[in-house]
Amino acid sequence: MLRKIRYTESSQSICADGAAGRIGTSDGLVDAAGKGGYMYDILIKGGSYPDFEKQQMVQGDVAISDGKIVALGRVDGEAKRVIEADGRVVSPGFIDIHMHEENFVTEGEEYGIAKLMLQMGVTTCLGGNCGTAHQSLQLFKDTIEKLGGAPVNYLMLAGYNTAREDMGISRYDAASAEQIRTLTQQMTADIENGAFGISFGLEYDPGITYDEVVEVIKAQPQEDLFVSMHYRDDSTGSPESVTEMIHIAEETGKKFQISHLSSCSAMGQMEGVLAEIKKAMEANPKLDYDTYPYNAFSTRIGTAVFDDGCFEKWNKSYDSILLTSGPHKNQFCDKELFEQVRREDPDQYVVAFVMNEDEIAAAIANPNGGMVASDGIISRGSGHPRAAGTFPRVLGKYVREGKCLSLYDALRKMTFEPARRLDLSGKGKIAVGCDADITVFDPETIADGANFETLFIKPTGIDAVIVGGTVALWESNIVNERAGRFINSPFYRKK
Ligand SMILES: [Zn+2]
Repeated sequence: MLRKIRYTESSQSICADGAAGRIGTSDGLVDAAGKGGYMYDILIKGGSYPDFEKQQMVQGDVAISDGKIVALGRVDGEAKRVIEADGRVVSPGFIDIHMHEENFVTEGEEYGIAKLMLQMGVTTCLGGNCGTAHQSLQLFKDTIEKLGGAPVNYLMLAGYNTAREDMGISRYDAASAEQIRTLTQQMTADIENGAFGISFGLEYDPGITYDEVVEVIKAQPQEDLFVSMHYRDDSTGSPESVTEMIHIAEETGKKFQISHLSSCSAMGQMEGVLAEIKKAMEANPKLDYDTYPYNAFSTRIGTAVFDDGCFEKWNKSYDSILLTSGPHKNQFCDKELFEQVRREDPDQYVVAFVMNEDEIAAAIANPNGGMVASDGIISRGSGHPRAAGTFPRVLGKYVREGKCLSLYDALRKMTFEPARRLDLSGKGKIAVGCDADITVFDPETIADGANFETLFIKPTGIDAVIVGGTVALWESNIVNERAGRFINSPFYRKK
C-alpha cells in the first residue's frame, strides 16, 4: 500500500533572535526545541533511521537547520517545512564511493550522471575511479564552481591510467623509471589539489606492473590515502588478481578498495575470493571492496577487456554483448557485428551479460565487508542502468524481495561505511551535528527503474532527497540541481 508522504509549509515566522546564532551548539538547541520556541528549517516526523551506534533501526524525528541535523528523537519545535514520514526510512543520503563523473569536455558543461545519482538517493559521490579521470581535476572543480554547484556533492580521485595515457605510454608497455617519477608527481599534485586518493585500472593498461603501482602509491606520504583498484584480470584470472591487490594493499599500507568485485569474480570465483578477502581484511583492516547489483558489466568495446580469449574465459559467446549506441543500439552481437564495432567504434560502451546472480548477492550481502557502489558511467547519453538504479535496486531486490541482507546492513554499506572509508566525519550518519544529507524512502516500494535499454526510468519509492539542508528531490522529481558542491579531501593544500 502506498501511503502518500505529506509536505507542509508553515507560515509561522522564524523566532526573533534568529536561527543562525544557535546552530552548532546542539545541546542548547535541543533544549530550545523542546520548549517549542525554535523554528527549524525542516522537520522530518515519524520515520525510522539507522543508528550506527546502537546498530539498529530506531524511530524518531529529524530536525534540520542551516544544513545540519540539529535535533533527533521526539522533536516538538516548529519548522518552516514539515515532512510527515510515517512508515518511511529516513536514511543518511547514500554515498556512492565508486562512480564515474561527467565529462565536461566532450559532453558539454551540464550534469548528466549527477542527476541520476540524485534521483536514486545519492547525496555524495566519488568520481575518477578505475584509473580514469574525464578531465583535469582543476577543470572539473572550476566547472562545478561555474555552474553554481552540482546536483550532489562531488569528491574525486586522481586517475592513474588517464595520466599514463596523456603521457603517451602504450597500454601494453611498462613505464620507465623517469615516467614513473613524472606520474608520481602528477598524482601528488592532484592529491594536494583535493583528490581523496588514486585510482588504478590494471586491466585497461596491462603494461602497468606491480612495482610501478607500489612505487607510485608509496611515494605519497598520506597514511590514510584512499586507493581504488580495478583488477588486472576477471573471471578465471580474478583469484590471482585479488591476491595481487591484497599484496599491494599490504605493501603500501594505504586504505585500499578493490573495485566492483562482482564484475570481477561473479563468474564462478566469488566464494573463494570472498574467503580470501575475509582473511586479508582480518590481517589488514584498511582493505575493503565495493560491488554493484547487476549481472552485467559495461565498458568500451575497444578495451583490452575484450581481447582474444575473453569469451572462452567467461564461458559465454558474442550474443552476451549488448551494444548501447550507434546504428545497432540495443542489439546483441554475433561474431561479425562484435568485430566490426570493435574495429570501427572502439569507444562505444557495451554491456556484457557474463555474471551469475547468486554470486552477486553473496558479494552484496557479505557480513564481513563490502560497500554498495554503482560504478555508474554515462557516455553519449546512455550507459549501464547501474548509474540510475544501484541503490534502490539493492533495497528492493536484495533487501525486501530477496531478504539477502537486512535493511540496516544495506544502509550501513551505502552510508556509514563509505563515509568512514573517506573520513567524511560529518556524513553517513543521522546524528546531531552531521550534515543534513538525507534520503527519505518507502521500504515497501523502493525499486530501480532503469534497464539495459534505457537509463531514464526513475526509481520508485524515493520521497525526498535533502542535500546540505536543501530539498533537492521531491516525490521523485529533482527540484534543486545545485545543492551539492565539490568537496576537497583532507589532503588538500591551499596554494
Ligand atoms: Zn572499473
